[in-house]
Amino acid sequence: MEILLAKDMGFCWGVRRAIDIMGRAAEEKGEIISVGPIVHNPQVVQQLQDKGIWTDTRPLDSSRPVAITAHGVGPDVLREVEETGAEIIDGTCPIVTRSQRWARKMADSGFTVLVFGDPEHREVKGVLGWAGRSGIAIEDGQPLPEKLPSKVAVISQTTQSPQRFSAFVARLMHERIGEIGELRLINTLCDVTSSQQAAARELAAEVPLMIVVGGKASANTRHLLEVCQEEGAAAYHIETADELQPEWLRDVDRIGVTAGASTPDSAVEAVVERVRKIARN
Ligand code: SF4
Repeated sequence: MEILLAKDMGFCWGVRRAIDIMGRAAEEKGEIISVGPIVHNPQVVQQLQDKGIWTDTRPLDSSRPVAITAHGVGPDVLREVEETGAEIIDGTCPIVTRSQRWARKMADSGFTVLVFGDPEHREVKGVLGWAGRSGIAIEDGQPLPEKLPSKVAVISQTTQSPQRFSAFVARLMHERIGEIGELRLINTLCDVTSSQQAAARELAAEVPLMIVVGGKASANTRHLLEVCQEEGAAAYHIETADELQPEWLRDVDRIGVTAGASTPDSAVEAVVERVRKIARN
């Protein structure tokens, strides 16, 4: 069995940065509370908890520092934390911060801000918060709002694929050019995601089977699965090595492995080890 790894995969620098910031804070100050899971990966969340980084116990209070994750939060959550008087440890990824600033800037300039992404995702909720009442999240494939104002700004969830974002903008222009007087397009896509998606696509074109490792709630892991399927490979999304089913490997002599931006190297190594073990048997 030949096991090929994607050229770019796993923890992105934004997540590594947030984990470092929080790890240092926990070492210096004792237990800290993170607003939501630091990454969409239960195994990593457990490892961090062992180091004193706990996820969200409401109501928050001033007894322990409160950490903002790489996904960032909206101004309402920030205010809620500030009101407790707790020290804030900010692990927001700078690329997400940039997106939040653009959302606020565009909203303040009178634009309706369309955020292309999953409305239930924490990053999108945070960015929408900065756009205030001017923000609208639109998921891929969803209809556009019935009526659009004249000034429209479009930004994207950082982890969307460039192809989908550009297709969305093209659809917006095609369907609504008559209503829009001024359109501002801000590219808030993250290079890390694009590079990991390109690497997954390249590998999926070469192998019959792709295993995508990452938390079930991780949006960028799901997108990796989609790009692998688009290349025609059979592709499975697993969170841990034990989810890998031996029958997937039947009659397959080459498999590709990739992993979402919140997947630790140890999870990928465990999957590779299990593939080897199944192949040996
Ligand atoms: S995927 Fe990109 S935007 Fe998201 S945390 Fe990582 S570096 Fe930041």
